[in-house]
Amino acid sequence: MKALVYKGPNQASWEDVPNPQILQPTDIIVKIDTTTICGTDLHILKGDVPAVTPGRILGHEGVGTITEIGAAVTNLAIGDHVILACVSACGHCSYCKKGLFAHCLASEGAPGVGWIFGHLIDGTQAEYVRVPFAETSVYPLPAGVTPQQGTLLSDILPTGHEIGVVDGHVKAGDVVAVIGAGPVGLSVIATAGLYGPSKVIAIDLDANRLDKAKLLGATDGVLSSDPDWKEQVLALTDGLGVDVSVEAVGIPQTFAMSLDIVRPGGHVANVGVHGKPVELPLQDLWIQNINISMGLVSTNTLDVLLKMVEQNKIPTEEFISHTFALQDMEKAYDVFGRAAETKAIKVMINA
Ligand code: NAD
Ligand code: ZN
Repeated sequence: MKALVYKGPNQASWEDVPNPQILQPTDIIVKIDTTTICGTDLHILKGDVPAVTPGRILGHEGVGTITEIGAAVTNLAIGDHVILACVSACGHCSYCKKGLFAHCLASEGAPGVGWIFGHLIDGTQAEYVRVPFAETSVYPLPAGVTPQQGTLLSDILPTGHEIGVVDGHVKAGDVVAVIGAGPVGLSVIATAGLYGPSKVIAIDLDANRLDKAKLLGATDGVLSSDPDWKEQVLALTDGLGVDVSVEAVGIPQTFAMSLDIVRPGGHVANVGVHGKPVELPLQDLWIQNINISMGLVSTNTLDVLLKMVEQNKIPTEEFISHTFALQDMEKAYDVFGRAAETKAIKVMINA
């Protein structure tokens, strides 16, 4: 089969590799129908994720059709269309029992790390993929949901929802600010709407992304390059700050921004993956009763979000900026890698 193989920093190629085989009785083999590229794949390609070694097939998102099932798999059948969660969950360990699939202790490669596709085992940017712990890691695709919509549920929608909205305790009437309107920040914006906030303020450097944010439910957009960006945000509140401030970029500057605009008693939900330490001014924050959360997605709300997508409660079509054929994977990487120029959000890659 063909797959996108990581060759080392700044090198990957769409090439012939052996087809995956069932290795454990809980495995299935899935023929990929639709996959996509994540910002994390670009980090891997730059060489920023050393756990990914040359030879690894990339990708952790997608929808496909089951072609083989392991002997222990009883609730799935050949021919089923399934959404692949980006996190693999054994379903039995102490973390899985709590729904904290992000830390599944049975995970292959590194116990305690649930994200293994395209990281510690071969991933979904391929014609076929081996899926471990299939019964507890894939979700049947309902008839009314397209493979492209399903692919948004592998990672970005659960990430925005769980780490941004749920951990940020967004509730009815809240003013929510989301810093960074990339695919993940846009997912925070789209899923925050499910809880009835009074305002959702998108903050980004890129005016195109603020426009996109409004199509996904943001009520206001603020350009963070404006010198008075903070005053603009505070003017959209009662002057005291936002109830929930979500960081969806992953750099010290935007984490500091998220602390700057939150009101006393408010929540700061950090979604961004940081490569460098950030400053945490506890001397100022403690007396303001600020709550700060962070985490790796578990995809434990994928099934709930799937219902919302099925009922058209999330305008999923706004996420999809480009469509490619599977054999044009390298072209898809090029377009996604130049998002500021190409206005790429999610590129859908279809078999
Ligand atoms: P992205 O790079 O596509 O989007 C980031 C956005 O931030 C862009 O629109 C950019 O213009 C904007 N931005 C950059 N600097 C800014 C600034 N100074 N002020 C305001 N906006 C600024 O990234 P993405 O794919 O949307 O992912 C966002 C973050 O979420 C990344 O750090 C990613 O690694 C992380 N992530 C976390 C999890 C998790 O489980 N916690 C899962 C997936 C992704
Ligand atoms: Zn587990």
